[in-house]
Amino acid sequence: MPRSSPASGQKVSDPVVLLFFGPPGSGKGTQSKMITDWLQIHTISTGEIFRAEVQAGTSLGRAAQDIMNSGGLVGDDIVNAMLETRLSQLDLHHGVLLDGYPRTIPQAQFLDQFLTARGLPEPTVLHLDSPRDIIIHRVSGRRHCAACNRGYNIYFQPPQVEGVCDYDGEPLSIREDDREEIVRERLLDYDRRTSPLLGYYEGRDYHRIDGNRPPEEVAREVATRLEGQMVRVRSSLTARRHRGL
Ligand code: AMP
Repeated sequence: MPRSSPASGQKVSDPVVLLFFGPPGSGKGTQSKMITDWLQIHTISTGEIFRAEVQAGTSLGRAAQDIMNSGGLVGDDIVNAMLETRLSQLDLHHGVLLDGYPRTIPQAQFLDQFLTARGLPEPTVLHLDSPRDIIIHRVSGRRHCAACNRGYNIYFQPPQVEGVCDYDGEPLSIREDDREEIVRERLLDYDRRTSPLLGYYEGRDYHRIDGNRPPEEVAREVATRLEGQMVRVRSSLTARRHRGL
């Protein structure tokens, strides 16, 4: 990842709001982790929150489980309320990266209202695009450790020993919603309900990125597209470190 230095004349505390947008299996999760490690901003992944709620057996998890397993989308009211709660708990001084939200026009409208009310900037939308056959192949290779939540892919990020987590030796499994027939449902829902967001964000700070490349290459392009934001966040981080925060 490139390093940026503070630019003169810029406010040190400008936050950034990044949205990773793309069909399941487009690499949003991988890219989000790389970017947040680099920028040190918070990430909210609505899918991960739902999976944690399901695992913990909460009422939210019970409400979401069947919908998730069938490849559908959880209702806007539930997702929006959950997101607002999470965002309100975070220090948004540097901003936030949202992975998997918004996924519908009402969610995008809700987010815009929230950002305006909190004095946060317009989102930068990073749209990771990949052909469908590649996505289905990629998702079919995903494996998951239920004990430590680490993810693998048998095609390009395999565990050292087949079927076993490198970190805790627990058996790896396939997520219910990564099965091919469910992925096809998720892609249909994406076309029907999430694709219209491209029109919603048209003319705003929107970037289409070819996600059908090795993750490091995609990350380099994301970094290039974000150069302006990088400068702001890095200068904010440097200023905080100097103040011992
Ligand atoms: P993900 O890991 O982002 O693919 O999300 C897994 C599942 O969680 C999705 O297939 C949906 O059922 C649910 N989900 C995650 N984010 C949202 C959202 N923003 N709106 C509705 N449902 C969501």
